[in-house]
Amino acid sequence: MNILVINCGSSSLKFQIVQTDLEMIEKGADKQLAKGLIERIGSQALISYKAEGKTAYKTTAAIRDHKAAIMHIINWISSEESQIPDINSLDDIHAIGHRTVHGGEMFSQSVKIDNDVIKCLEDNIDLAPLHNPANIKGIKAAREVFGLSIPQVAIFDTSFHQTMPEENYLYAIPYQYYRRYKIRKYGFHGASHRYVSYRYRVLENLPKNKTNIITLHLGNGASACAIKNGQSIDTSMGLTPLEGLIMGTRCGDIDPSIVEFIAHKEASSMDEVFNMLNKRSGIMGISGLTNDMRDLLEEEAEYQDRRATLAVKMFCTRIKKYIGAYLAGMNGADAICFTGGIGENAAQIRQRVCENLEWLGIELDTKKNNTIFGGKEGIISKKESKIKVYVIPTNEELIMARDTCRVVLNAPLT
Ligand code: ADP
Repeated sequence: MNILVINCGSSSLKFQIVQTDLEMIEKGADKQLAKGLIERIGSQALISYKAEGKTAYKTTAAIRDHKAAIMHIINWISSEESQIPDINSLDDIHAIGHRTVHGGEMFSQSVKIDNDVIKCLEDNIDLAPLHNPANIKGIKAAREVFGLSIPQVAIFDTSFHQTMPEENYLYAIPYQYYRRYKIRKYGFHGASHRYVSYRYRVLENLPKNKTNIITLHLGNGASACAIKNGQSIDTSMGLTPLEGLIMGTRCGDIDPSIVEFIAHKEASSMDEVFNMLNKRSGIMGISGLTNDMRDLLEEEAEYQDRRATLAVKMFCTRIKKYIGAYLAGMNGADAICFTGGIGENAAQIRQRVCENLEWLGIELDTKKNNTIFGGKEGIISKKESKIKVYVIPTNEELIMARDTCRVVLNAPLT
């Protein structure tokens, strides 16, 4: 089965075409056939497409909206130039999977999209005003363009975390706010944490219910997840992706009184304060230089910039805090797995996170750590380390393609 996997952001659209079926899933033999990215939707868009084994095709075009973006992709897929293996026309696309950010409490698994599902997503816009509208646009556009005969599936960032117990997902505010408005921790990056957990158990040859790990997705957005017996029991992002770790531009955990304090002092509106917490905080806010970890590490190394060092220190210290909290909450773990742009590439950050955790049984092998980056996978802890440390490059699209396949075939979702 050839599956088009779509990930719509507010002004971007990423896609992959993945070939998979139940047997290929079982054998881990799924194949990526093509991938692409359209950025700056709404103006002169930057477009990059790549068929497996071929050189990338880059162009620009005026792309008005998500529907126009999907039309552009379709034209490329069905063109002679694309040369995607096993895809000769649109008829060779058998199903579509959509990344969908917020499923609320309604969706604890991926689902086949119908009008009722779209209605539920619209009802959840309140919970994810930045993300869900773009996802819904992508779904509606794909249904218009492909027609209703091609099955489409929604894969939620939140659903992996629906297994959290209530003592971990509730906030200690009056209970009626949960009852009335469903205010609670939902967690995000679900497909990534789930993929890393799956990949860990493949590497360790363990059954799902023996998977006890902490996953650290460190990208521009960052979150940690405590996975016990194969299930998410706690995660650092909350009602929205603002909570938890320090991120590129998001503040992570802060005292909520700060919001009122700043609004009052600066005569700012709530929107302005939240915009600052989402877009001008994190390592960007502390360093005053950049939200990009690679640039920050360069600044630190080259100019010994004090605030660059401080931002990196705070970033790593917050991660350590979560590792400690989760190890306590899980009664220990077998491994810590790094993923995301920073987790996969920044050996220095991994080293600084794992520093001084020897007493917990975490011992990094510096040599191994320094050799793993750029999409490599492997163990970076010493043999004698009680808790193993892994780098596992994430693959959210694979999880999305597999879920789409299973939903379409009515096979059980794992
Ligand atoms: P997103 O959350 O946008 O998907 P990514 O997972 O792509 O983000 O991660 C982006 C982050 O990864 C950026 O901060 C980038 O600087 C960082 N990164 C990528 N490569 C390196 C590297 N070699 N060293 C340090 N940081 C890196």
